[in-house]
Amino acid sequence: MSSRFSIGELIERKRDGGSLSPDELRWIVGAYAEGAIPDYQMAALLMALYIRGLDSAELIPWTEAILHSGELLDLSHIDAPKIDKHSTGGVGDKISIALAPMVATCGVAVPMMSGRGLGHTGGTLDKLESIPGFRTRLEPREFTRIVERHGLVLAGQSETLVPADRMLYALRDATGTVSSVPLIASSIMSKKLAEDLDGLVLDVKVGSGAFMANEAAARQLAETMVELGAGHGTPVRALLTDMDQPLGLAVGNANEIAESLDVLTGEGPDDVRDLALHLGIEMLLLGGVTTDRDEARRLLEEAIGSGRALAKLAAVIEAQGGDPRVIEDRSLLVQGPNWYEVASPRAGFVSACDARDIGVASVRLGAGRSRKEDPIDPAVGITILAKRGAPVEKGQPLARVAYRDADRLEAVLPLLERAWSIAEELSESPPLVIGRVG
Ligand code: URA
Repeated sequence: MSSRFSIGELIERKRDGGSLSPDELRWIVGAYAEGAIPDYQMAALLMALYIRGLDSAELIPWTEAILHSGELLDLSHIDAPKIDKHSTGGVGDKISIALAPMVATCGVAVPMMSGRGLGHTGGTLDKLESIPGFRTRLEPREFTRIVERHGLVLAGQSETLVPADRMLYALRDATGTVSSVPLIASSIMSKKLAEDLDGLVLDVKVGSGAFMANEAAARQLAETMVELGAGHGTPVRALLTDMDQPLGLAVGNANEIAESLDVLTGEGPDDVRDLALHLGIEMLLLGGVTTDRDEARRLLEEAIGSGRALAKLAAVIEAQGGDPRVIEDRSLLVQGPNWYEVASPRAGFVSACDARDIGVASVRLGAGRSRKEDPIDPAVGITILAKRGAPVEKGQPLARVAYRDADRLEAVLPLLERAWSIAEELSESPPLVIGRVG
């Protein structure tokens, strides 16, 4: 390979604690995306970056180089402010499905680009695909047309957008280099900044079901992403939110869509509705719809109460090839076919309902993937019947499990049996919103 730089020398410098210049970082990303740097050298560099980190003089050019590795969306002709929300990933996190149509009925355009399940966490795209016919793979032109018409689109990243991130992410997944603050921040922000946004709201999850298990790490991730947004001229606000127990009661795919529809009909679990409102308020404030939090909340509540948010979701489901009758007819969201109840071993109060154990169990039942090519079974999953703070009797069901295959159920029972802790005394639960950055 004839080139301006020697990749071997750059790997060694980073390994030994030195810095890489913006030119060197831009060259590395470009050469890797073109196939001029092989995976084995990139893997070695990623491990050096993982261990040594990237300072902000390195992180900004690294992220910008990934962002510019492919096509960029151009939504500049859309008058409404364009605001997206991104979650760092959790269990039972179906917030986007209710939140995006609520916000889109309040004068903000939401070009939502979501991801698939990763590890023990679920993915919005996998959930949406449990709606019969719903297409999440849209080319940039169709993506743009749906935002123009409806002020909302719910899709995946196209092949042409930020290809370097897709390549780097697959390599990180296979080389133990995922859980690094600068690498996660650059991966998320390169994709989000490619959407031509006026603002971004981040839901940075903290707890056993999150990639960041403690608040300090989550705060550092949030601060890094807010700083990357500022460097690019895109305002970013982040909420740090609890992910020690799953969000809502449904964990899976079809059952999470049903729960999201419940929230849009004014029902559904309080935590899902509350978090959608918290994040929606930030989106309306960032979009300049109002400067008053109470007014923003009122607008969002009115979007639910009037049925406009649900009608918006129905229109977008139809525009993306899905069957909008799911709104009225939940039997189209197939669940089961077999059911099992997890019983409480004793009387007391639920003191833990571990998001990671429940997330792993859901994935192993078939609601997620163990290997990249595995299909998703939309019908299986877990419905939680008792969360933190709930009083339970001995033998009372803690969860109902929808499963297809008895062997898989057998394999996940130890996880489900240890996921709940039952204490004699009622203990205080942590708040849903732990902090904010930006
Ligand atoms: N999500 C992403 O898009 N990238 C990461 O690195 C981690 C979570």
